[in-house]
Amino acid sequence: MPCLAIKNVSKAFGGLKAIDNASFSIEAGELVGLIGPNGSGKTTLLNILSGHLSCDSGSVELDGKPITGLRPEVLARHGVLRMFQLTRSFPRMSAFDNLMVTGCALGLSQSDAEQRALKLLEDLSLTRIMGLDAGQLSGGQMKLLEFGSCFMVPPRIALLDEPFAAVHPTLKEIMSGFIRRRYADGQTFIVVSHDMPVVVELCPRSVCMNAGRIIADGTTRTVLSDKVVIEAYLGEAAA
Ligand code: ADP
Ligand code: MG
Repeated sequence: MPCLAIKNVSKAFGGLKAIDNASFSIEAGELVGLIGPNGSGKTTLLNILSGHLSCDSGSVELDGKPITGLRPEVLARHGVLRMFQLTRSFPRMSAFDNLMVTGCALGLSQSDAEQRALKLLEDLSLTRIMGLDAGQLSGGQMKLLEFGSCFMVPPRIALLDEPFAAVHPTLKEIMSGFIRRRYADGQTFIVVSHDMPVVVELCPRSVCMNAGRIIADGTTRTVLSDKVVIEAYLGEAAA
């Protein structure tokens, strides 16, 4: 049974089909790149998976159970954790407290949350700045913090939306190293990224969207050399 199954999901905004009958499944322990030109529906699909948007039709199953239409906080407790393209944290709380809030919201005890937060801060090289307010962090550090908060409780599936965008190469390397290690430990991921070298390096499998449709799904190498995928990206460059 797949960890996550997306079945014939569609979503329109007015007349625009942002997601057009999308279907694919992810097995537990897979690290899947979700790629595609700007506006192809990647963020919208993640919004549906994380419960931040409802779909018009179709269904989503987690471990064989329907999760379509559940609210984000319910899904988070089922282990569907989400990182946003634009960061969201509490700017006037310390980096450490930001992680604590997430941990406690996910049901960890104070002491478990503390332990996890300290370990994550160390894994992400943020220990030095853990006492600073999140609002004082650089954009990249803020992103790392939000990234970390997805892992306060090891999620059933981590949904990462452009984690590497506008991030300093050093921080990017910290993030991709973290993803690699967690993947090796069996963590399941969907990573949306425009950064093809990172996708090639990290993701054994990729799913490509264009205009709301899934246009390719397979090994990253196969997907990136697919004529339809190349044409979709060329269309973006020409637009
Ligand atoms: P991507 O993440 O692949 O760049 P998005 O999922 O953000 O693409 O957007 C897919 C399409 O849906 C785009 O044409 C975008 O303009 C449109 N869209 C996204 N969110 C909304 C919204 N809340 N209202 C109207 N249109 C939207
Ligand atoms: Mg997006």
